Amino acid sequence: MIIILIGAPGSGKGTQAAFLSERFGLTHLSTGDIFRSEISSKTPLGQQAAKYVSKGQLVPDSLVTEMVASRLSDPQGGRYLLDGFPRNLAQAQALSSLLSQKGAGVDSVFFLNLSSLEAIKRLTSRRLCGGCGEVYNVLSRPPQAEGKCDKCGKGLVVRDDDTEATSRKRLMVYEDLTRPLVAYYKTEGAFHEVDAARPPQDVSAQLGAIITPLVSGARS
Ligand code: AMP
Repeated sequence: MIIILIGAPGSGKGTQAAFLSERFGLTHLSTGDIFRSEISSKTPLGQQAAKYVSKGQLVPDSLVTEMVASRLSDPQGGRYLLDGFPRNLAQAQALSSLLSQKGAGVDSVFFLNLSSLEAIKRLTSRRLCGGCGEVYNVLSRPPQAEGKCDKCGKGLVVRDDDTEATSRKRLMVYEDLTRPLVAYYKTEGAFHEVDAARPPQDVSAQLGAIITPLVSGARS
């Protein structure tokens, strides 16, 4: 089973993916998280990706699709939630041929729709825990003690690519390259649009209600 989350940076894909993967036992594949981890470990892939990630550009398709292919080991038997991939039409086509070679396909696509104005506001007020990675927002979800993680007490940091200039660049890239996937997937199969400006728990409830029958159908 393959479920895809599409949405602008800041639309809440990571938050919703964490919730859904835990609730439904899905394997969460976040290409952004993988790149950040490779970059901080200074692996060869991380060194190649860093120059694009730091500028808010897309990492070249060949690197991304190879990385995803190596992690999608059992698309028929496993349950995967793709967060941040595909990010353009070439990646969507590469995913489709990779899946069809393994007798699988995309089961559902969720589009978290958020205006660019709201996205930029969210990105520039986002903070991450440098220890456990918990995500906060100084406007809508501030930590109890300023600058400190509620969960592990470590300091909060601004993600390197959440500066205003890089956030604007990422949103331009999203509009040019990723948003066309909405039209692509609308014609390809089960497509659901969700208003991502609503509170995260409302978005989770809506997504959960749509995914529940899919997952129980897959079990029987
Ligand atoms: P994200 O955490 O999804 O916002 O991704 C952070 C950054 O990682 C993006 O701005 C890109 O530089 C890179 N990235 C993540 N996913 C992809 C992808 N599917 N294709 C190309 N670059 C990606």
